[in-house]
Amino acid sequence: MEKKIRKKKKAFVSADDCVACGCCLKVCPRNAIEIWHGIMARVDMERCIGCGKCAKECPASVIVIQEAEA
Ligand code: SF4
Ligand code: SF4
Repeated sequence: MEKKIRKKKKAFVSADDCVACGCCLKVCPRNAIEIWHGIMARVDMERCIGCGKCAKECPASVIVIQEAEA
């Protein structure tokens, strides 16, 4: 029998384009984003529920919501 792979939506940050402004972490309901070394936003995949609030908030539009394997 084929095993079902559960897919969940998660936020992914394009590291090269992130300006580390911190707008995304302020709106995250799960507190899943941190500014890593003051350089870029990093998403905690365990916490992220893929709600997309961060992606809407990002002024540089560098966050995409994609399906990730659970
Ligand atoms: S998609 Fe939602 S839960 Fe995930 S990092 Fe963005 S704001 Fe937080
Ligand atoms: S809002 Fe966008 S540019 Fe600002 S820290 Fe978050 S991902 Fe980076």
